[in-house]
Amino acid sequence: MKYKYCPLCKSPLKHKKIDAHKRQVCLDCGFIYYQNPTPAAASIILIDGKLVLVKRKYEPFAGLWSLPSGFMEYGESAQECAVRESKEETNLKIKPGPLVGVYSGVDDPRCHVILVVYQGQAMTRNMLAGDDASQIELFNPKNLPRDIAFKAHRYAIRDFLAGRK
Ligand SMILES: [Zn+2]
Repeated sequence: MKYKYCPLCKSPLKHKKIDAHKRQVCLDCGFIYYQNPTPAAASIILIDGKLVLVKRKYEPFAGLWSLPSGFMEYGESAQECAVRESKEETNLKIKPGPLVGVYSGVDDPRCHVILVVYQGQAMTRNMLAGDDASQIELFNPKNLPRDIAFKAHRYAIRDFLAGRK
């Protein structure tokens, strides 16, 4: 994301090299825009040995499958985010943990994402697609769909399945 004007004093922002990075700065009030990756969390949930995937309702990658996942709210922990997103997208109440891994997502056109992926233990079984999921399916890990959105999701699934063998 790029700003045009200083969010504090509304002066036009300029580019300046700070800490070896080109950053947007305000020469009037000293504001510096530090652009950081955006944290998100996802859950790998197995039900009867099958992996829960949701079909994405919205862009990017609308119509492709993904792990239940979403961006962290300010003040929310990674675990809380994983629990909330699972509930919103699948209606499953999960217990998060253990950690599968932390992945850098660079193929999301919206931003550079840091994805924290947990195993999610399903405490309930009544699945219902909601929020930004249009459909839910259980997939045999040996026969996953080819069209899974986001490299970070594919790597997490790969690592999780490799760790089970
Ligand atoms: Zn300013």
